[in-house]
Amino acid sequence: METNPTRMCELLVGLPDVNVLGVEDVATGPLRIHVELRTQVVGCPQCGVVAHVKDRYEVELIDLPAFGRWTRLVWHKRRWRCPDSGCRVGSWSEQNSRLAPSRQALSDRAGRWVTRQVGESARSVNEVAGELGCDWHTVNDAVLAYGTALVDDDPERFTLVRALGLDEVLVVREGEYHRQRFSTQVVDVARGQLLDVVPGRSGVEPTAWLNRQGPAFLAHVAYGTLDLSGPYRAVFDATLPYATQVADPFHVVKLANQRLDECRRRVQNEVFGHRGHKTDPLYRARRLLTMADERLVDKGREKLLGLLAAGDPKGEVATAWHAKEVVRSIYDLDNEVIALAFVERLGHDLQDESCPPEVRALGRTLLHWKQQIVAWHEAHFSNAPTESVNNLIKRVKRAAFGFRSFTNYRVRSLLYAGKPNWDLLATVTPR
Ligand SMILES: [Zn+2]
Repeated sequence: METNPTRMCELLVGLPDVNVLGVEDVATGPLRIHVELRTQVVGCPQCGVVAHVKDRYEVELIDLPAFGRWTRLVWHKRRWRCPDSGCRVGSWSEQNSRLAPSRQALSDRAGRWVTRQVGESARSVNEVAGELGCDWHTVNDAVLAYGTALVDDDPERFTLVRALGLDEVLVVREGEYHRQRFSTQVVDVARGQLLDVVPGRSGVEPTAWLNRQGPAFLAHVAYGTLDLSGPYRAVFDATLPYATQVADPFHVVKLANQRLDECRRRVQNEVFGHRGHKTDPLYRARRLLTMADERLVDKGREKLLGLLAAGDPKGEVATAWHAKEVVRSIYDLDNEVIALAFVERLGHDLQDESCPPEVRALGRTLLHWKQQIVAWHEAHFSNAPTESVNNLIKRVKRAAFGFRSFTNYRVRSLLYAGKPNWDLLATVTPR
């Protein structure tokens, strides 16, 4: 047990190379711990002559809370000067990265701690800032500085990828017109790892990203998964011409649900002459319609059929609903030859004249993408990792209440879903 008062204090403060000068206790404010570096002798960086202390000034750093109280480190920083009148160096301030990296308002240990809280646990910056008694910007700056280093300076975070997916994500609606801003996620589909996030949903940024990874990386990608849209297909055609393109089942089913929704809204308008109201049968059926059939309990299915009977006189919505369920059943097949025959027939059947226009459009899309859809049956990796990455991102977005800055969004997403090596957090150099 340590009983020497100075040593006791140093143990509690827990910083190497530091003398504790005193503790300042103001009832309403944080605990203020005054410290200085132990260094007594410093050489001039230019000529090596022993430097003199020019003066001192105080820098206040936000530190981790101690004993349930906010704390501040008040660093009595020395300014050194070279005594050699012929030397060009003049004066300089002492630095200590263990205490605090330059330009950061948080102590080094607090900076690493907030990065883990926000990055790994997806806690909101506001909540963590409240715990330290500082503002949002202070915590966010630290998360960006340490977080960027953790995700971008570790060449081992990901190496070679066998199944690479591109997926568009709505980042934020901004401004008074709620203009939408999108990003593209680059995902290792097999490992469920977010590799990167690039701005926009065109092919330009994903193409540039892929080319930056180099020929060995590109040659290793055997599968490219994508939604049913043109831009990503063009990216894969150009940069990964030998990779098998796979339509993401999640997006195929989502498309069938979108067509069903469009059909429901059109029929609603035609039959009732107005947009769906909460008392209208079709509006009341909207959730039951998109639910997977096997998840509908008997009562739910009975209710759905009743609502359709009341609001869908020509059976168009029922047809679109049935089409959606048949599209889902593509993924019950476990053989790619049978699956191809199935998708081809389905694509033609859905284009029958008796089908509503939304269903016919769905049939055309299925035929257009049949190779990519059926490639899933050959590749046979689950789409669960992509969905789990998407769910992770949703959690990050909830914690952040929408992202104003793309850099924030990218780093926070990668910290949470990009599988950084958290063991490196203790040693990375903040950007
Ligand atoms: Zn000098």
